[in-house]
Amino acid sequence: MVVKVLKDEIAQKMALKNVYKLLNEQVDLLLSPDERKFVQELQAFCIDHEKKIDYTKDVYVDFPELGKHGYIQRLNSWKQFTQAGSKYEILLGLNLAMMDPELDLARLASGILCGNPTFQHGHTPELKKVQDELMAGTKIGCIGMTEMNRGSDTGHMEARCTTLPDGFKFEGTKAFTTNGPKADYFIGYGCVDSAKPRETMVQAMLSREMGITTERLTIPVVPRVHIGKTYFNGLKCPNTMVTGPPGKGHEYLFDGLVPERLAIVGSSLGIGWSSLLNGVIYCSLREQFGNPIMSYQAVSFPFADLFIRLSSATITAFRIAEIYDAKILKAKREEISKDLFKASAQWSSQIKQLAARLAHEITYETQQLMGGVSVTDNTRVAQTAGVSQIQEVIGGSRGIQQLILSGNLAKLIRSI
Ligand SMILES: Cc1cc2nc3c(=O)[nH]c(=O)nc-3n(C[C@H](O)[C@H](O)[C@H](O)COP(=O)(O)OP(=O)(O)OC[C@H]3O[C@@H](n4cnc5c(N)ncnc54)[C@H](O)[C@@H]3O)c2cc1C
Repeated sequence: MVVKVLKDEIAQKMALKNVYKLLNEQVDLLLSPDERKFVQELQAFCIDHEKKIDYTKDVYVDFPELGKHGYIQRLNSWKQFTQAGSKYEILLGLNLAMMDPELDLARLASGILCGNPTFQHGHTPELKKVQDELMAGTKIGCIGMTEMNRGSDTGHMEARCTTLPDGFKFEGTKAFTTNGPKADYFIGYGCVDSAKPRETMVQAMLSREMGITTERLTIPVVPRVHIGKTYFNGLKCPNTMVTGPPGKGHEYLFDGLVPERLAIVGSSLGIGWSSLLNGVIYCSLREQFGNPIMSYQAVSFPFADLFIRLSSATITAFRIAEIYDAKILKAKREEISKDLFKASAQWSSQIKQLAARLAHEITYETQQLMGGVSVTDNTRVAQTAGVSQIQEVIGGSRGIQQLILSGNLAKLIRSI
């Protein structure tokens, strides 16, 4: 039961419909008519669904409801849900994270990290079945890339694949698998020869039924999401479930990182907007010393600064997504220049880093501006703060995004 310290009048004003109203005033002009309609429907769903969330239960109970509305992912078109692309996916993550950032984290791992390879490289009936189950939210997916000894250096993974006449044997252990302990499907990676990852890495859709076992890691900031260790146990994966044969697995892993990072940007923006707008509403109504605390410049100026940065990051993210959709996602592979591939890798990495860090900073700063109520369960901000703590490390940590950018800078310098 929630013990209340927040006045009812303020709580009513902090209703999700009001938070979305403020958001729409900021982003509406950045959307096409179709995108605006998508957002209106999505927000109506979230306003209704938020009331049904049972916060004592894990997020997975909400997956089928998301699936019914085509909200497990929107990077790729699936069934009648044809409004798709990385901008739609950013809009989905942004709005879902404002409703329930833990649910958004888990559905992104299932729908994008596990689901995207079925759209890009899944050409068998078996993989189509996996795709339908993941998108419907009736089955749960995850990605097993990181290992205990191979975090940022994911390319040089220790997991081994052995070629069999009709598929591959997978041996190894993965770490930090979001959804792993609950998952039915695992996009897994291993190398036939770990000294030659580029030439021999395999990407495949592994299932729990093939023999995977998992253990849950304790990650207190996201209590309703299960993150774990995943053991391949020498499982046998048939060729029909292989999405990237030896060598292709490496290419697909790195190609996939671009839309995956853009999807994470949507969640980070949602976390930022949620904290900022909930904070702005609260501080405009909360009175101290006879005045709303927002009337004190010590409160309003820091909010203005956070607002400037988040609004600018949002415009940048939308623009990057629009370019990615038009020039890469919807283009024929042979028509895409090498330079554009490289640029999209850099842009997705830099906006992921910017938005993730900003999400955390905004949430922490908003808590200081709001005061005590923000760390209780009376507002959305405390739950959002938990998820904001992991945004920078997932999808490649700060040092790796900086490594990508500094590598590109070094190349630039060599060209003059
Ligand atoms: C909550 C959570 C969920 C996750 N979900 C998934 C998932 O679903 N699937 C999955 O496969 N993985 C997942 N991860 C793993 C995540 O992607 C890794 O944690 C991340 O890539 C960093 O790896 P690491 O933790 O081993 O850190 P390390 O690689 O050990 O890095 C530690 C520090 O060193 C820095 N560093 C390392 N190398 C360099 C370098 N060359 N230059 C500069 N700095 C460097 C890093 O930036 C970091 O600051 C998750 C992690 C967390 C915490």
